[in-house]
Amino acid sequence: MSQRDVRTSSSSGHTETFIFDFDHAHDIEPMHLRSLLGGKGANLAEMTRLGLPVPPGFTISTTACRAFMHQGWPSGLDAEIAAAVARLEERMGRRLGDARDPLLVSVRSGAQFSMPGMMDTVLNLGLNDDSAAALASLSGDERFAYDSYARFIAMFARIVLGLDPTPFDERLHAAMTEENVLAEGNLSADVNRRLVGEYRHLVEELTGHPFPTDPATQLHLAIEAIFSSWGGARARAFREREGIDHDLGTAATVQSMVFGNRDQSSGTGVAFTRNPSTGEPTPYGDFMRNAQGEDVVAGTSITQPLDELDDAFPEAAAQLRLVFTQLEQHFRDMCDIEFTIEQGRLWMLQTRRGMRTGAAALRIAVDMVADEHIALTREEAVSRITPDHLAQVLHSSFAPDARYEVLTSGLAASPGAAVGRAYFSAEAAVAAHARGEAVILVRTETSPDDVAGLLVSEGVVTSRGGLVSHAAVVARGWGVPAVVGASELVLDGDRARVGTEVIAEGDWLSLEGSTGAVVRGRVPLASHAAPPEMTTLLGWADEVRAGHLAVRANADTAADARAARERGAEGIGLCRTEHMFLGPDRLPVVREMILADNDADYQRSLERLLEVQREDFLGIFEAMDGLHVTVRLLDPPLHEFLPDLEELLVKEATLGLSADEQRLLAAARYWHEENPMLGVRGVRLGVVKPGLYAMQVRAIIEAAQHRRALGGDPHVEIMIPLTISAPELALARGWVEEAMAGSRSEHANLDVRIGTMIETPRAALVADQIARHADFFSFGTNDLTQMTFGFSRDDVEGKLMAPYLAAGLLAHNPFDVLDAEGVAQLIRLAIERGRGANPELAIGICGEHGGDPASIATLYDCGVDYVSCSPFRVPTARLAAAHAVLARRGVSDRL
Ligand code: ADP
Ligand code: MG
Ligand code: MG
Repeated sequence: MSQRDVRTSSSSGHTETFIFDFDHAHDIEPMHLRSLLGGKGANLAEMTRLGLPVPPGFTISTTACRAFMHQGWPSGLDAEIAAAVARLEERMGRRLGDARDPLLVSVRSGAQFSMPGMMDTVLNLGLNDDSAAALASLSGDERFAYDSYARFIAMFARIVLGLDPTPFDERLHAAMTEENVLAEGNLSADVNRRLVGEYRHLVEELTGHPFPTDPATQLHLAIEAIFSSWGGARARAFREREGIDHDLGTAATVQSMVFGNRDQSSGTGVAFTRNPSTGEPTPYGDFMRNAQGEDVVAGTSITQPLDELDDAFPEAAAQLRLVFTQLEQHFRDMCDIEFTIEQGRLWMLQTRRGMRTGAAALRIAVDMVADEHIALTREEAVSRITPDHLAQVLHSSFAPDARYEVLTSGLAASPGAAVGRAYFSAEAAVAAHARGEAVILVRTETSPDDVAGLLVSEGVVTSRGGLVSHAAVVARGWGVPAVVGASELVLDGDRARVGTEVIAEGDWLSLEGSTGAVVRGRVPLASHAAPPEMTTLLGWADEVRAGHLAVRANADTAADARAARERGAEGIGLCRTEHMFLGPDRLPVVREMILADNDADYQRSLERLLEVQREDFLGIFEAMDGLHVTVRLLDPPLHEFLPDLEELLVKEATLGLSADEQRLLAAARYWHEENPMLGVRGVRLGVVKPGLYAMQVRAIIEAAQHRRALGGDPHVEIMIPLTISAPELALARGWVEEAMAGSRSEHANLDVRIGTMIETPRAALVADQIARHADFFSFGTNDLTQMTFGFSRDDVEGKLMAPYLAAGLLAHNPFDVLDAEGVAQLIRLAIERGRGANPELAIGICGEHGGDPASIATLYDCGVDYVSCSPFRVPTARLAAAHAVLARRGVSDRL
C-alpha cells in the first residue's frame, strides 16, 4: 500500500475517541499533544509527520486510561483496538498471529511526563507457536524467530504477568553457559526453542494458567497492565514528590516491530544529537549489533560507541546524521533518540528532548541562539536553564592540591565531586541520609527502584552500565555526581571489593563524576570555574529582569561584597553590623559599652566602636561603588555579646570569678531573656541604649563622606530592624537625621535613604502608617516566617520539621521556601498599604528566601523590587528572577 493510500484510509472518517494512528491528522502538531498522546506517542506521531522512518502504529490516548481508572475497562475500547489493529494489519500487509506472515508489535507506555514505575515495553507481541514457525520460515532464520519468541515470553511474564524474572534469567544464563556465548542473540535456534518450552512451563506453573497464545488476548493484557501501572505505588510516590497530577493517566502505544536482532546487519542503539555531558555539538551514543530493545541501555551487554556506526552501517549512519539535524531544527533542542537498524535499514523508535548536565545545558542554549537554523531567542535560552543546571556548574571537584590514591575508576557519568559513606542499597542510603549522614550509593547498576536512594546521595557509583545507563541519565538529570561502569568493583551484599580491598557499609568514599575516579576516604573538594556560557546566559537573564526585579546580596564585609559583585549582585540588601561587633579586637569594646556604668565610659566605648565601624563601611562602600548598600543597625539581643550565663555560673561555683567576670555575670544576668527572639533587640535596643544607633549612623555617614572625598559614589540606605509601629520608626528616623545633620556638612548631597525592615506581623498590618516615615521597606522573611507561624526557628527546625513534613502537615520547610499561602499574604498586604501611603516606597527582601527560586517567584508576584541573598546564591537568584519575569510574560519551558 502506498503512502498516499495510507493517509486516505486513516483519515477516512472513523469516529474514534480513544485511539489515534501515528499519521492521524490532528489539528495541531502532535508534539504539542503530550497530555493526550503521552510524550512517546506524541513524538512518534511528530516524527511520522516529518516523514522520518517510523514503524507504523497507533496510540491509545490518556483519555482511555482515565476512563479505565474511574470505571474500569472502557466499553467500546475493545472495538476501537480491533479496528486500529485491522488498519495496521492492512497497512503492513500482515496479520497479528498469522500462521504464514505474522505481524508483531511492541506495546509501550508513555505518559505526559516520563516517570519511573510505569510498565516497561513488551516487544514481539503476537508470537505463538504458529506465528513463530511462520516467522522462521519466512525469514529463513530459525535462530532469529525463536530468539524473538523466547524474549517475548520472558518479557511478557515479567512485565505483564508481573512474575519474578529470576527463574527465567536462570534458564537463560544456563543456556548461554551451555552454548558458551556472551550475548543472547548468539544462542542457537534449538536452544531458543527449548527456552520457549521452559518459559511456557514456568508461566503455567507460576500462574496456574497456560501462557496466552491468542494475540488479541496478549494485546489486551498488555494494555491493561500499562493502565494499571499508572496507579502503582512507585508511580504514585514519584508523582507526589514531583507535584504531578494523579489524574493525568498514561497513554499506550502499539507499534509494528522492526528487528535489530534479525542478523549481523541489524542492531539497535540510543543517541543524543549532542554530547549530553559537555554540550559539544557532536552526536553521542551507543549501539549494539544483532540486539533488541533494552539490551543497549541495560548496561549489561557490550556496546559500541556511536562513532563506530559509520563502519558498521555506513548508509544508516549517514541517514541518522541527517535525522539528527532535522530533529534538532524541528524541536529546536538537543534530542535523545532510540533507533533500530534492520538489515541495514534505519528505523526511528523514539525521540524526546534530551536530559543533560548543567554545563551541556548552558553550552547548548548559547550555541542554539547563535545557530541561524534554530534561532533560539535569548528568552527561550534563559527559560531552558534550571537552577539545578546552574548548581551543577557551580559544583565542586577534588581540590587541585589534594593528595589521594585512586581506588578504582569508571566512566565519568555526571560531573561534580562527592564525599560520603558507602551504602549498597537504596533503603540503606535513605536510612543513612535520615540519620544525617552523607551518602555514596554503590550499586551494580541502578533501576527506577533506586531513584529514592539516588536522590538522597551525594554521589553514585555503579560497577556496570554505560553513559546512557539508568544511573547515568538520572544522576545527570538531578545533578548528582556519578561514576558508572567501575567494573573492578565487585558487590556482595553490604560490602564491595576491588581486588582484595574491601569496602564495608559506612566506609568513606570520594568520587569525581567528571573524571570517573573513586577514592577511599575523604578527599578535600574545591569549587571549579564555571563555563563561559554561564556568564553569557546570566547576562541574558539580567536583560530579561532589568527594570523588573533586581538582585542584591547579603554581605557584611568588603570581601563578601566583592565576591557578591563578582557574581552579579546589584548592591547590598543587607549588611549586618553585628558581625562587626564580634571580631576579637571589637568584642572587648562592645562589652565595655554594655558594662559602662557612667556616661563618660559609655561614650568612650561608643567612640572606639565608631572608629572600627567606619573602616568596615569604607571598604564595603568601595566594593559596591555606585550601587546601593543597605546597612542594618544593630539587631541581636545584647546577651549574644556576653559570655554564656551558665558557664559563668559554673565557674563561679567551682573556680570562682575575677572582679571583671563578676561584672560580666551581673550583665549576663541582667540581659538574660526567656525568649530572646521576642525580646530587647532591633530598634528596641536603640531605645534602651541611647546613642548606640546614633554612633552607628555617624560611622556610616562619615565613611560615605570619606568615600566621596576619595572620588567614590556611595549610595547609602540605613535600615531600622524589627520596627512595630510608626512612632517607633519616627523616633529612630529622628536619631538618624540628627546624626546626619551633625556630620554631613561637607557633602550635603550625599545619597542617604532611611527605611525599615518589615518582620513582625504588626508592622505588616500597619505598613501604611510606617511607610510615611520610610523611604524603603525590606522584608525580613526569616523573622516574619518565625512570627507568623509562631515557630521558634532554632527549636522547631530540629524537632518538629521532619515529622511535620513526613506527615504532610507542611509541604515545605517554610524557612527554605516562602509560605505562599500565609506569609506571602502579609507581604502582599504590607506592600499594598505601604505603597498606598507612600508611592515612592522601594521594596526589597533580605531573608534567606531571597536565594530560593520558588520563593523568588512568589515574591515577584507580591510586588517586590529586589531580592537579596547570600553572595553564593546570587547567580541562581539572577536566573530565578528572570524566570519569574518570563513566567508573567507566559514564557516557560516546562516540558
Ligand atoms: P522506554 O520507555 O523504557 O524507553 P521504549 O518503549 O522506548 O521504552 O522501548 C524500549 C526499547 O524497545 C526501544 O528503545 C526500542 O529499542 C525497543 N522497541 C520498542 N518498540 C519497538 C518496535 N516497534 N520495534 C523494535 N524495537 C522496539
Ligand atoms: Mg525508550
Ligand atoms: Mg530579623
